[in-house]
Amino acid sequence: MHPMRQDLEEVLLTEEQIRHRLDDLAMEIQRDYAEKDLTLVAILTGSVMFIADLLRRLPMQLRLDYVGVSSYHGETRSTGELILTKALKLDVRDRDVLVVDDILDTGLTLVNIRAMLQKLQPQSVKFCTFLEKDIPHRENFQADYVGFHIPNKFVVGYGLDYRERYRNLPYVGTLRPEAIAAKL
Ligand code: 5GP
Ligand code: MG
Repeated sequence: MHPMRQDLEEVLLTEEQIRHRLDDLAMEIQRDYAEKDLTLVAILTGSVMFIADLLRRLPMQLRLDYVGVSSYHGETRSTGELILTKALKLDVRDRDVLVVDDILDTGLTLVNIRAMLQKLQPQSVKFCTFLEKDIPHRENFQADYVGFHIPNKFVVGYGLDYRERYRNLPYVGTLRPEAIAAKL
């Protein structure tokens, strides 16, 4: 197997940039939820690195749960369909919920998650996304916390995949066209 770095066109966010931004983001969340009863709901699988790095920076009492959704089916563009692959386990009624996701693209995923959560009658629901793509038309959706705003490009690394690969890169980058065409 070849190393992954050579498949990248460019590195958009380095490990150091991510570390520094997370320090600030966690402080903001800590401040906003200091007096609340926080339940973090991370969206699988893309948010794994982000949630782990965020969690260790949050010193307050909190609970963690996961929801599994799948929308990409291995391509670099969204198909519009959403499949629930893992349901929520914790009761979130009257709780303060913060949904944590990897990237906000069209907003379709989080619009659906919001509708699903609101039926469970939480005290509040907010959204934290590691990345937000700079796109002109988004579904009726705005994130409350954003790690980084990035250009409208397909990115991998730091949890984000292309055909289930590259999630383990500790930084974020774009793929070379040859790597996209290769279909490992
Ligand atoms: P949305 O529902 O906002 O269109 O898309 C959100 C989901 O699509 C993300 O959680 C992520 O799984 C996937 N996605 C969107 N843009 C990208 C991207 O640039 N790279 C990767 N790897 N996944 C993306
Ligand atoms: Mg996702």
